[in-house]
Amino acid sequence: MKLAEIANQLNSDIKKNNRFILFPHVMADGDAVGCCIALAKYLQVIKKDVIILMEEKIPSVYMFMNEGIDIQIYDESKKYEYEVCIALDTGDINRLGKRQGIYLSSITYNIDHHKTNNEYGLYNYIDCDASSVGEILFYLMKQMGVRIDHDMAQGIYVAISTDTGGFRYQNTNKKCFEISAELMDTGIDIQKISEWVFEKTNLKKLRLYESTIQNIKIYFNGKVALSSIRYDEYKSLDVTDEDFEGLVNIVKNIDGVDVGVFVRDRDNGEVKVNLRSNVDMVDVSLIACENNGGGHTRAAGFVSTKSTGEVCKLIMKSLEKYYQ
Ligand code: 5GP
Ligand code: MN
Repeated sequence: MKLAEIANQLNSDIKKNNRFILFPHVMADGDAVGCCIALAKYLQVIKKDVIILMEEKIPSVYMFMNEGIDIQIYDESKKYEYEVCIALDTGDINRLGKRQGIYLSSITYNIDHHKTNNEYGLYNYIDCDASSVGEILFYLMKQMGVRIDHDMAQGIYVAISTDTGGFRYQNTNKKCFEISAELMDTGIDIQKISEWVFEKTNLKKLRLYESTIQNIKIYFNGKVALSSIRYDEYKSLDVTDEDFEGLVNIVKNIDGVDVGVFVRDRDNGEVKVNLRSNVDMVDVSLIACENNGGGHTRAAGFVSTKSTGEVCKLIMKSLEKYYQ
C-alpha cells in the first residue's frame, strides 16, 4: 500500500471503530514501544478506547513516557474485545508470540520496516528504506492530518533514536534529523530522553557486561566475534530480558570485526541470538531467516530451541562461506 492509501484506510477505520489494540513485538525495543505510545496518545486525544498489549512487561527504560496509557501484559484467561489491531515494528506474526490469536481476530494493520516482513496483516505498510517505524509513523500521522503533540513526539523520537543507535548506525538518514528537528518544536527534552534511554545503567547490567567480555571468542582471523552467556551464569543476577539489550555491540565494535554475535539462554529455555554486521558482504538477516528469525542486513536476530553450543556452531557454519 502507498502512504496515502494506508493513511486513508486507517482514518476511515478510526472513524468507524472505537476499540484499538496496539501490538509491539515480543521483547519490545524502543522502536516498537515508542511507536505504540505515540499512536496510543493520538487515539486517546481523539477519545478512542486504546490499549497497548505487550507480551512481557514494558522495559523500565521506557517507563518515563507511558503515563496515562493503558499498557497491559497479555493474559490468556482474559477476553479482549477490540475492533482494530495494529502491529508495529513486527517483522513476522510469530513475533506477536501468544498474542497472535487476539491480533488475527479483528481488522489487522501491519506497519513495519523489516525487509523480511511477509505482510501478514489485512493492511500492510512496509517501508524497508525507513530507518525505523518511528520514521514511518511520523509521515503516516502527518498524512492522516494528526497534530503531533509533545507526548506523541516523545514516542516517535525514542523510536527513531533507539533504532539508529543514537543516530549512529547505517540506517541513519537525513529524514531522521529533519523529523527530530520538527519534533523538538513540541518541547521534548532530548537530554532527559537520552539519559533514560542511552545513559542509565545498573549494577546487574554491568555484571552482564563483565560476563559478555569474559566469554568473547574470536573466529575467522578476527573477522567474527561471538559471546555467549548461559542461564546458569546469570540466574543469580536477577536480570530480565531488557538488561541484555545492547550487549551484542560489545562484540560488534571490536576493531577489525565484520560480524558480532551474541547468544544467550532465556529463562524459558529458548536461546536468543543477536546478529550484527559491519560490512555489506555479510547480510545477517539471511542467517536469521535460515533459523526462522528475521531483521535487517546489519542487525537481525532469532530464537531457537537448540542448545547454545549447537546454535553457535550453526552460525559459524553459515559464516564459513564468507571466510574460508
Ligand atoms: P535484536 O538483535 O536487537 O533483538 O534485533 C535486531 C533486529 O532483528 C530487529 O530489527 C529485530 O526486529 C529483528 N529480530 C530480532 N529477533 C528476531 C526474531 O526472532 N525474528 C524476527 N523476525 N526478527 C527478529
Ligand atoms: Mn525497528
